[in-house]
Amino acid sequence: MIFPVLSGCCRFGGQEGDRGNARSPLLEVRGNIELKKPLVKAPSRLPLPGTRFKRGPDQMEDALEPEKKRTRGLDTVTKIATSQSRAPALTARTQTQNQITAPKVPKKTGPRCSTAIATVLKNQKSGPAVPAQKPGAAAPPMVGGRKPTKRPAWDLKGQLCDLNAELKCCRERTQTLAQENQQLQDQLREAQQQAKAQGAECRTLEGELARVQAQAEQGQQELGSLRARVLELEEQQCTQEGLLRELQKEQLGLQEERRGLAARLEEQERRLQASEAALSGSQAEVASLREEATGQAALLVEQGERLHGLEMERRRLHNQLQELKGNIRVFCRVRPVLPGEPTPPPGFLLFPFGPGGPADPPTRLSVSRCDERRGTLSGAPAPATRHDFSFDRVFPPGSRQDEVFEEIAMLVQSALDGYPVCIFAYGQTGSGKTFTMEGGPGRDPQVEGLIPRALRHLFSVAQELGGQGWTYSFVASYVEIYNETVRDLLATGTRKGQGGECEIRRAGPGSEELTVTNARYVPVSCEKEVEALLHLAHQNRAVARTSQNERSSRSHSVFQLQISGEHTGRGLQCGASLNLVDLAGSERLDPSLALGPGERERLRETQAINSSLSTLGLVIMALSNKESHIPYRNSKLTYLLQNSLGGSAKMLMFVNISPLEENVSESLNSLRFASKVNQCVIGTAQANRK
Ligand code: ADP
Ligand code: MG
Repeated sequence: MIFPVLSGCCRFGGQEGDRGNARSPLLEVRGNIELKKPLVKAPSRLPLPGTRFKRGPDQMEDALEPEKKRTRGLDTVTKIATSQSRAPALTARTQTQNQITAPKVPKKTGPRCSTAIATVLKNQKSGPAVPAQKPGAAAPPMVGGRKPTKRPAWDLKGQLCDLNAELKCCRERTQTLAQENQQLQDQLREAQQQAKAQGAECRTLEGELARVQAQAEQGQQELGSLRARVLELEEQQCTQEGLLRELQKEQLGLQEERRGLAARLEEQERRLQASEAALSGSQAEVASLREEATGQAALLVEQGERLHGLEMERRRLHNQLQELKGNIRVFCRVRPVLPGEPTPPPGFLLFPFGPGGPADPPTRLSVSRCDERRGTLSGAPAPATRHDFSFDRVFPPGSRQDEVFEEIAMLVQSALDGYPVCIFAYGQTGSGKTFTMEGGPGRDPQVEGLIPRALRHLFSVAQELGGQGWTYSFVASYVEIYNETVRDLLATGTRKGQGGECEIRRAGPGSEELTVTNARYVPVSCEKEVEALLHLAHQNRAVARTSQNERSSRSHSVFQLQISGEHTGRGLQCGASLNLVDLAGSERLDPSLALGPGERERLRETQAINSSLSTLGLVIMALSNKESHIPYRNSKLTYLLQNSLGGSAKMLMFVNISPLEENVSESLNSLRFASKVNQCVIGTAQANRK
């Protein structure tokens, strides 16, 4: 009966054993988790406390072995009787029961016993006759072989005999029952002991159960925390997986990038190799080029020498050409008729072709003059007198500024070669002198005059000569000579327009170089600076004009550019000055005019102008005639320009002519003066070399 319990005990015993083997509760719980069985159900095969005791002895007996059941009390007689094949003990008892013949059952046997006896008696009545009487006792009489019949009332002896037999049977039965009782009591004691042992065992198991339950609870808690931990870890895993995916994606991207970089690296390496190959080729080329450069340098030196020789030759030939052209040249320029001026009669001014026809630049000018004073006897006007003039070059009214400059560019360049150059603009007021020298109104480059063009040309050529080792510097001054007084046109500040007098002095004792005291000498290196100087001179003249009545046309303006050239490599130096002179109006004072105070002043001006202009003519004549005395000192103008006139100097005179018939007299005067100059031949010029 205790096997299930024992099997439960063995099971727990196994657990104990496992515990003994230091198996942790956590592992056990894990085992349970794996089995997916709640712990509390595990002892279901155990006799639970309470339930075990509720079963009682009968229920406990159910667990008894069949043989023990068969040794129980009489209450099972009925069952025993119907199962003859059971244990032999029961079979024996049935035999015993069959031997019972006594109809009466003693009271002390109890209800159960009496019932059994009654059953026996009943069986005796219904069953076949059993010979239970002792030998010698009168047995009930048999009728035709059937069971004995009831003894007659008179057969007291027989009845007594039956009773005795029955008594004997009862006594035997009693004895048997007592024995059985004794056995049952023994069994009961044994069962009680077993129950006691089982109670103790049950308590132990309960304790064990409680401990296991506690462990289970702890396990549950641990399980809960482990589940939470598992969840946490799962979350972490999710996060880590997300991170892993991102990292994998990133890794893919990086791998792609790496592949791209590897491809680029490969490409770069290829290029590098190509570059290295090219470099080595280049190095070889450089080496050969160096060799070549050395050869070239030697050649360059040689060429430089040759070039220098050629340059000197060029200068010589250039000068020769200029000399052939004449050291004094005269160009005639006729300005166009201005808007509002009367158109001159046709044929008034003529520009005959040269020997080469229209292709030749004009060099001749014819002026037709009708002298009203000279009439014919018939009263008809006298035929016009034609005056022909020939110059180095004649510029008709339509000539442009650049055409004019083109003709003097070579002359200007002579100044760089060390030959002094003087360019004059001669003519009556309004004939276009200032237009020719400085330019027209406004900043139109088309009407730029000779001064800015000449300087730009000089700067450009100087830069070219810089390549041959020449270094040039330029210093500009701009003065006007009015009434034999010199005034600085570049004066600034308080001296501006004040007309502070300047003096022409020698630069030093024994020096032939002249300088104007109080005048500004401004170094220039670009046309912008020259523009600024011309603008300043224009401003200074404008201030003077307001106070001194068109003094600009009554004075000579002298723009001087001191040029210094140096070839340091060869120790060569050259210096010369370029003089661009806008002469005062050459017109004479009309003698028919009344001499008022203004006119007297004007007369003095005119006399001064005429004197200086005639001095210029005389100086040129004296130079041409190679006279011993050159009257430079007779005027401030010739005195200032003495180093640029004659000798090594080259001179060019523009005679400016008005196209108007009303100015014909002055035009003829100018042309005559210019013709005289043009006839002059000044000796071979020599470059100022130091
Ligand atoms: P000058 O200096 O001899 O007194 P200007 O140079 O002042 O004479 O010239 C007088 C006027 O004639 C100015 O208005 C000038 O612009 C104009 N003029 C002179 N020469 C020319 C020319 N070649 N083309 C156009 N206009 C000219
Ligand atoms: Mg002028």
